[in-house]
Formats: sequence, C-alpha cells, structure tokens
Amino acid sequence: MFEIVFLGTSASAPSIHRGLSAQVVMHDEYRFLIDCGEGTQRQILQSGLGFKRLNRILITHGHLDHILGLAGLLSTYMRWETIDSLEIYGGKWALERVRDLLFGVVLRGAQPPMPLHLYEIDAGIFLEGDDFNLSAFPVWHRGPDCYGYLFEEKARRPFLPEKAEALGIPNGPCRKDLVNGQAVTLPDGRVILPEQVLGSEKPGTRLVHIGDVGRTSELVEICRGVDTLVMEATYLEEETEMAKQFGHMTAKGAAEFALACGVKHLILTHVSRRYRERDVLAEARSIFPAAVVARDFDAFQVKRDELTEFELHQEDET
Ligand SMILES: [Zn+2]
Ligand SMILES: [Zn+2]
Repeated sequence: MFEIVFLGTSASAPSIHRGLSAQVVMHDEYRFLIDCGEGTQRQILQSGLGFKRLNRILITHGHLDHILGLAGLLSTYMRWETIDSLEIYGGKWALERVRDLLFGVVLRGAQPPMPLHLYEIDAGIFLEGDDFNLSAFPVWHRGPDCYGYLFEEKARRPFLPEKAEALGIPNGPCRKDLVNGQAVTLPDGRVILPEQVLGSEKPGTRLVHIGDVGRTSELVEICRGVDTLVMEATYLEEETEMAKQFGHMTAKGAAEFALACGVKHLILTHVSRRYRERDVLAEARSIFPAAVVARDFDAFQVKRDELTEFELHQEDET
C-alpha cells in the first residue's frame, strides 16, 4: 500500500486555492516528496505531515514551478528544522538547475546543514526497499531529462494459515521462516517446504506519477494496468493546440491515455487556473468515469485495484 498526499496542484503559477506542484508519497517509513514548487514548505506545515523523515525528494523536471520551493526548504533546514540528510533525485538538466539554486543562491559557499546529495537518475530502478522498488522512466516534455516515477510493491506469495494448521505447523518463528522462503524442520522431524503453505504469487500495488508530459506513446507499457496513475491535465480540449505547443496534456488526452492503458484509477493534477475544476473533471469523466481531480491536501491510499481518500490531521494555528 502507498499513500499519496497532494500539497500543490496548480500548473505554472499558484491560484488562490492551489499551490505549485508538490506531492508526498509514503510507504512504511519512507516518505518521498515529488517536486517542490514555490511555497511547498508552508503546504507541508499546513498538511500536518511536518518535515520529519522528509529527506528524499524526486524531481520530475527542471521547470521553475517544480523546483523553486527547494530554496526555501533548504533555508528552513539551515535555521530551524533538523534532518539527518537530504537526497535529491532527478535528471541531469533538472539537477543542474537545482544545483545552481541551492549552491549558487542559497548556500553560496556555506556548508549545507546536513549531508546533501544530488543523485542523477537514469531509466530503471534506483531505489530498492524491503518490499518495493522505485524506478524512473523518461518522459517527453519541454526541455531535456524529464522523468516519471513508478512505485511498485514486490510480488509476494501470501501465507495460507489453513494449510499451516492442516500440516500442524506451530505458531512462531518457523512460520516466519516459511514466509521468507526457507524450509523448516518441525520437532517431529518432518521437513516443510515454503511451497506447502504459500499461495500463488500476487503482484504488488503499482503507483505511477508522470509529471508534466506532452506525449504519451512511449508510456503505455510502463502504465499498463497500474492501480493508480497520477497525471497532469493542464489544458482542456478546446486548447489542444496550446497543449501541444507547450508540451502538456488536455484532460481529455490524459483520460484517453488512462483508458488505453487500462489503469484502475486516475488522479489528475497540475491544473491551470484558467479553468474551472468542474470543467476539467467533466471532460476527463466523459472518457474515464472514475477520474478524480486532486485538490491541495487531498490524501489517498493506493492499494491493489483500490483508491481510497482519507482525511489528513491538518494543523490549525489558532
Ligand atoms: Zn509544470
Ligand atoms: Zn514543465
């Protein structure tokens, strides 16, 4: 299971109700901030998530509406908040711009207040947790080295307690060993193999975040059948030409792509303040009826085949 919290859902400039691009994906003790538009640190506070363990940042691309918030965030880490380390992942061009911003403007020769690493990514898996993989894939947008991110739980074989009971396997460590794929010898001398108590392999939950994107033909394979797809919808169909010109999607285009890939759930973000949310939603839903348009502070649990909204414990400063 993954959780995703939207901190900023506006395209290119903030609106009264929407901040600039930022979202947090959480899994066990991991927290990933994807993009960090201007004003993100205030959204982090208001969301109630706080700064703790928010030490991995994934950048989709180097446009300013996705990176300017890094300067403020680092500045706050220098004065007020402590964090063990900060890791920023992104494509080459995005990281060049991030480096200019952080080392050229914010630090200017000063030491960062914590180990600060900029990791240039390529297509493929770049972070492996116990039970999930995080990989990047190239995305076509204006400018080079744009990436989307795939969070994927590893496939696993569920433990079948009724089979264990039937075989007389006692509760305790030997069941854990079987789950971990090890054969065990019972006190009566019988050897039990994992195959005897594990069901057939179940694929893990997949969550894809694409970021800004102007062309989807290369993304069909990576998105096929994913449980939740997060995608931009900067324009409406009436401005298809403009969308093409700036390397963005229309709500209709995003919904058609989601439908073609057979994704289970679609969340649209990066919406322009030129439009009313209900028009974006209506256009998407005419193609993909379950489409959702994210608002700032919307939070979702992403499970296999399932998308559930949940309430954040938002901070109230009164
Ligand atoms: Zn953008
Ligand atoms: Zn962009």
